Amino acid sequence: MPVIKIDDEGRILLPQEILERLCLKPGDQVQVDAHGLTVVLSRVRPAENSIALTDSRSVINRKNLETAVRFIKGVGPKMAAALAKKGIHTVEDALYLLPYRYEDRRQLRSLDRLRPGQLEVFCAQVMSAETRISRGGRRVFEAVVGDGRGAVLLKWFNFSPRHMAGTWRAGRKGIFSGEVVCYGHDREIHHPEVDWLADGADPASFMADDPVNFGRTIPVYPLTEGLRQKSLRKVQKEIVDTFSESVETAIPGEMLERLSLIPVAAALREVHFPGNDTAVDLLERRATCAHRTLAFDEFFFLQLGLALKKRGVSIEQGIPFQVTHKYTRQLVKSLPFALTAAQKRVLAEIKEDLAAPHPMHRLVQGDVGSGKTVVAILTALLAVENDCQVVIMAPTEILAEQHFLAVRRYCAQLGIAACLLTSRVKGKERSRLLEDVACGNVSVIVGTHSVIQEKVEFKRLGLGIIDEQHRFGVLQRGILRKKGQNPHIMVMTATPIPRTLAMTVFGDLSLSVIDELPPGRSPVATRICPESQRHRVYRLIREEVRAGRQAYVIYPLVEESEKSDLKAATLMAGHLAGDVFPELRVGLLHGKMKPEEKEAVMGAYKDRGIDILVATTVIEVGIDVPNATVMVIEHAERFGLSQLHQLRGRVGRGTASSHCILLSGDDLSGDAARRLKVLEQTNDGFRIAEADLELRGPGDFLGTRQAGLPEFRVADILRDGPIMEEARQEAFALVERDPHLSSLDNGRLRQELVRRWGGRLELAGC
Ligand code: ADP
Ligand code: MG
Repeated sequence: MPVIKIDDEGRILLPQEILERLCLKPGDQVQVDAHGLTVVLSRVRPAENSIALTDSRSVINRKNLETAVRFIKGVGPKMAAALAKKGIHTVEDALYLLPYRYEDRRQLRSLDRLRPGQLEVFCAQVMSAETRISRGGRRVFEAVVGDGRGAVLLKWFNFSPRHMAGTWRAGRKGIFSGEVVCYGHDREIHHPEVDWLADGADPASFMADDPVNFGRTIPVYPLTEGLRQKSLRKVQKEIVDTFSESVETAIPGEMLERLSLIPVAAALREVHFPGNDTAVDLLERRATCAHRTLAFDEFFFLQLGLALKKRGVSIEQGIPFQVTHKYTRQLVKSLPFALTAAQKRVLAEIKEDLAAPHPMHRLVQGDVGSGKTVVAILTALLAVENDCQVVIMAPTEILAEQHFLAVRRYCAQLGIAACLLTSRVKGKERSRLLEDVACGNVSVIVGTHSVIQEKVEFKRLGLGIIDEQHRFGVLQRGILRKKGQNPHIMVMTATPIPRTLAMTVFGDLSLSVIDELPPGRSPVATRICPESQRHRVYRLIREEVRAGRQAYVIYPLVEESEKSDLKAATLMAGHLAGDVFPELRVGLLHGKMKPEEKEAVMGAYKDRGIDILVATTVIEVGIDVPNATVMVIEHAERFGLSQLHQLRGRVGRGTASSHCILLSGDDLSGDAARRLKVLEQTNDGFRIAEADLELRGPGDFLGTRQAGLPEFRVADILRDGPIMEEARQEAFALVERDPHLSSLDNGRLRQELVRRWGGRLELAGC
């Protein structure tokens, strides 16, 4: 890293190396742009003075947007603190704090025309007001207001009696707003907003004096403690009026026009303080052109980054493989089954990638039990046929061990050397193993994240396969790639990721889907069972075991209560073995066990030496014991739907019919019951994933931030799927035309991309 010096007058002295890289000579001008701690230097060329000028305006605009909200008129220290709690520190943050609904105050309603279910605004006079005691013994403040054409009852359930008595004098006039609710013929409004008119004041001129709050569609913002709607609205008006102009539109004008979008500044003004001809229901559904513009703007830069990244991969030199079928044909012959059409199709897609001169970067998605493992092994063999090493990386020890057993079985018959590398391999054994890997004695290396540790070196890594990717971050993918010279990468996931989400997190990968299960599978019958029915579950287990089958009983392992859950699982195993099924063989499996112990238990279960396996969620992914037909999940309500679907996928792997029982507390909440019902109703992983995504939101769905999911301020990947598609097409087409965004027109895009995503996307060639 070259060091840059600053002289006594604050001038920057650039080392020769950087001068050369920027093609600068003494006397040239350089523009300095600060983004937080990162400083971007760009050359100002005499011929491009016009660009330099607009750029300096950009710098001023950015400065404006970075103004702290506490400097805005109307924001005191208390409000600034409340805003900070919502993550709003700068003017730019505030501009992107959008209304979550709108109130139509363009015209006042007369009271005979109030519409039930609508938010209405009207001017009326207090006719009566008093505190009453309801039948349930609660205090309620009730007021009747009228406007000569009709009357309506207002109610408060939380109020200060003294304050209400003081304000609600009969005869007083005000402007009221709130949602009209209907009970039979009676119309009521609960907790309305009120603006009192001074005695004798004319409502029309009162409203004309307050154009922020009346005579228009007004925004309603999400509040937190310490924020009041009216003051926030006023501050937002101030910010929008003063600063929206500083928000530049980086998307090229031609594109805006073609897609009927508008400049971002105008879009921000419109979503905060919409024009009077904008329909309120469009605003509320976020379907206006302005909302669309803002969502597109966010998606577009994400997709642009992903497009560049993908492009970076496609222009890199890879290792083109020859498909010789030397090993693969033999393996396919030795399989006890024929590949499904979907497996064949995906393999063909993979082969085409591998034969290309650029590295493969492919996501293989397939529901539980669709047969990804055999696809992975065949792909691995293609690499071995080309004298390359292969890494297969799994998220847990157990899964790595299981993959290893499968790989070893196949490899042994083909005379290929394979090894297992996890953190459990220690000391001399580890150094010998690393040595073997480094000099190429081993062709297939199966392991956990241990395989991408610094010390591990390969002779010639040609392919990396990552199983169950959502457990790994984007980062691991990058590290794995650096272990070889642009090795091919294949990522497998059993969680069917809804398309919109796949386009964000895995947007730089090509996608293959194994959308077919091997024949002869019968769907798993799923039932929610309350605790009080536990004895019936035991009966089912006993019947199945008698019929020669096996069962799982799973305990959730939630991080914060790991110890107690582990204890629960251990106790349960003891209880089942000692009290409930003394005649059956009960085993226990959890993540804290030594690998030899785990392997012994798994091995015994596979060989039918254990009838009932009590386990924590370590078995969630990938375990394959086709003879198991019962899956009992304790505290099912504590799991996410996709996780439950994964667990359920451990049974129904053979031809016998299988059962999944979701045991839950007797007092299951409505929400939890609805969630679990989804599993009773469908075996389709996609539908379950979609439901899960809707119920939990994208961050939770993927197991949080580490998955590298960007956060959007306006866009919503569930609601705005079609906009994401559009943004993706545009971005990819643009990168196709101008792969380095080097044309003059795209300079602005490039700058904005770097500003928004910085190093986070590890942009190749940018
Ligand atoms: P997953 O996609 O969940 O990783 P696996 O690869 O573990 O699924 O495969 C599930 C089971 O299906 C395994 O027992 C495997 O041997 C079997 N299997 C895979 N492909 C086929 C096929 N084409 N026909 C029949 N059984 C298959
Ligand atoms: Mg699997």
